[in-house]
Amino acid sequence: MNAVVMGGGMSGLAAAINLLDLGIEVSVFESDSILGGRASSWHDEDGDLIDNALHVFFPYYVNLLNFFEKLGIENNIIWKNTEFYYAQAGGNLAILKFKKLPAPLHAIYAFSHLLKDYRDIPRWKVIAAALPLGLGFLLSEEKVKRLDNISMATLVYKFAPLEGLKVMEPGINGLTFTPSYAVSAKVMLNWGMKVMGSASTARVGFANGGMGEIWVDRCREYIESRGGKIFLETPVESIEVESGKVKAIRLGNGNRVEADLYISTLPPFLLRRILPKESFNLEYFRDLFYFEHAPSLSLQIWFDRKVTDVDVTFFSTDCVFNTYADLSNVLPHIFKEGSMFEMVLSPADHLIGLPDKLIFDLAIGQIENIFPLIKRDMVRKWKLVRERQGVYRPFPGMESHRPFQRSPYENLYLAGDYTRTEVSSGGMEAAIWSANKVAELVAEDYMGKAINLNVEFMQAEPFMKVARPVTFAVMIALALKAGRFFWRFLTRTGGKKT
Ligand SMILES: Cc1cc2nc3c(=O)[nH]c(=O)nc-3n(C[C@H](O)[C@H](O)[C@H](O)COP(=O)(O)OP(=O)(O)OC[C@H]3O[C@@H](n4cnc5c(N)ncnc54)[C@H](O)[C@@H]3O)c2cc1C
Repeated sequence: MNAVVMGGGMSGLAAAINLLDLGIEVSVFESDSILGGRASSWHDEDGDLIDNALHVFFPYYVNLLNFFEKLGIENNIIWKNTEFYYAQAGGNLAILKFKKLPAPLHAIYAFSHLLKDYRDIPRWKVIAAALPLGLGFLLSEEKVKRLDNISMATLVYKFAPLEGLKVMEPGINGLTFTPSYAVSAKVMLNWGMKVMGSASTARVGFANGGMGEIWVDRCREYIESRGGKIFLETPVESIEVESGKVKAIRLGNGNRVEADLYISTLPPFLLRRILPKESFNLEYFRDLFYFEHAPSLSLQIWFDRKVTDVDVTFFSTDCVFNTYADLSNVLPHIFKEGSMFEMVLSPADHLIGLPDKLIFDLAIGQIENIFPLIKRDMVRKWKLVRERQGVYRPFPGMESHRPFQRSPYENLYLAGDYTRTEVSSGGMEAAIWSANKVAELVAEDYMGKAINLNVEFMQAEPFMKVARPVTFAVMIALALKAGRFFWRFLTRTGGKKT
């Protein structure tokens, strides 16, 4: 049996590896000149490392971590302390610092620590805005799923002044490239529960090198050493369908390729362009038109001296950037001279039409405002990356449009971070999960065997298992106490009247 994999990003290479492991011959067709898609990197004309974008890993990426372990590259992720720095105007730094305490004490400690120095909004608004995140732990999975129909801003508005969202906005923007008023509450609660659920999961890992360097070459080696073929600069231009099956794909070089199985790992915006028109008679494929692109840009700035000593992620609000890191501290063995800021610019809807220089000017002006010791003339070099950017926009209601990996065409499967997963709304874990799911489905559909590649992330915190019953018990106890108090008050008042 042979398979065509369309796209050589993380889901494409993982799918190719999984299929090879099942004994299927694989050919990967990638339109770009490099592999890795959005999680790639390269060196520029000066030999400097350019990441497609700053990527961070979370401990809940259990399937990605298993995949890296299988390839022997798990040590290519460097895990950092359980801290997130809020860099605010005038050089003020506030730290969301998680301590090794049982949940929820770890979160109470972290927010108290943040409040010591956080200045953007009054403290009570930060506390009120944190309540909806806590809500995630108290609701059943089903209820959290239903919150896909409202935005994060709507949810917060039920509990707190909207201004309270300021503290969450950089995280929301950095993860989804979408403002809080347009992002599904379910998506953010899910993320909050996985990351903030315990002190050990509230941390990030960084690539120990270029984002692509840490995993792409090893995947290529794995695929080619098992007879898999990889074709770069070979875009798939159309998909031919006959009698409910994919018959062939047409390539940019004019070639037509037939296979038994076809795996698309192309983003939805591209896949819907190359499917034949009759596909859209099926609701499954019509759903692809619900996907909107949430644009981002990636900015790297090299300074001629050290400008910070922080080796974890920074968050900033009201700037063109939201999540960033000084890689000279994160990876001192690689960035040896001066500081290097790697910054995600998002939501970038209002930026992408602007010239590079203007975008840099906006960013450096805001950096000078946040870090008073940094001056524009310390910049040695900067690079704006526009290609391979963006994710799909997780609007409220989008979860129901994410396609399941098994398509209605019997030999076509879809993988990619936008396809339906239990893990997150896009991101690298979703890419790997979807590639694993495709292999599970192929094994079931074509080999009649059940394999389980995906594992479910479980919060190890014992408190979280009992959080709901304990909270409901406390609430009922409080309600009974309040009821007794009012009953006594009423009966006493009534007594006086008679
Ligand atoms: C700025 C930025 C920051 C991010 N930060 C994080 C992060 O911190 N943590 C995290 O988990 N995730 C992050 N992500 C998301 C992460 O990069 C993606 O989820 C992941 O790389 C998606 O992999 P994929 O294989 O699904 O898609 P892609 O990487 O997009 O792969 C699709 C591939 O298909 C190829 N292709 C397109 N058209 C054709 C065609 N016609 N024929 C053949 N090939 C084609 C593309 O070139 C590409 O290689 C970030 C993304 C961006 C843009």
